[in-house]
Amino acid sequence: MTGRLEDSSQDRRVRVQGRPVDSCPEDGPEVERGAVHRITVVGEDVLRRRCQEVTAFGTPELSRLVDDMFATNRVARGAGLAANQIGVDLQVFVWDITDDWGVRHVGHIVNPVLDEIPAEHRRLVDESEGCLSVPGPYRVVSRPDRAVVRGRDMDGAPLVIEGLGYFARCLQHETDHLHGRLYLDRLTRRERQAALREMAEAKDEVFARRAERAARLGK
Ligand SMILES: [Zn+2]
Repeated sequence: MTGRLEDSSQDRRVRVQGRPVDSCPEDGPEVERGAVHRITVVGEDVLRRRCQEVTAFGTPELSRLVDDMFATNRVARGAGLAANQIGVDLQVFVWDITDDWGVRHVGHIVNPVLDEIPAEHRRLVDESEGCLSVPGPYRVVSRPDRAVVRGRDMDGAPLVIEGLGYFARCLQHETDHLHGRLYLDRLTRRERQAALREMAEAKDEVFARRAERAARLGK
């Protein structure tokens, strides 16, 4: 997959809100300011509803939500987190992820809409995927290897984010959350049941690790 992406391999700088910058601390200001929330788990209603569109931009509430989502994602070692994963019914997600080419991407998007990729340009890849709301298991899911989401930032400025490889997978996974969908829905019934059994066995340990990391960060 590597040879296809000339631009990513030339500029390895971290992308914040889609733009290359010279540096970005591992625990950015959002993580420092944010409060860690409990992450909702499959079976909870808020994960199954389509989230509401955000209509008020530039508010302290929206800024606090983004901070809290970054802090919660960090403690859980997530690649991305959607608002309904902390029980908030709004169309917002955050990401902090290193892509297949070693480039880190950090950001948030509000009211995201995924571009439809025409079938002739769509290349499906099978890769392993997990979810903070399904603690424990990972399963192979087939998804397009490129994704573009269009939305706004928390101040209402238009934002377009393009992802390739694992980052494309993340953008699609998080957009799915905001539509009330989980990656489990993309598995066969048998695979889904096996994943849920694995979760039942693994979840207490995952929760304990998150609590330890939260304590270490003073959260
Ligand atoms: Zn998820």
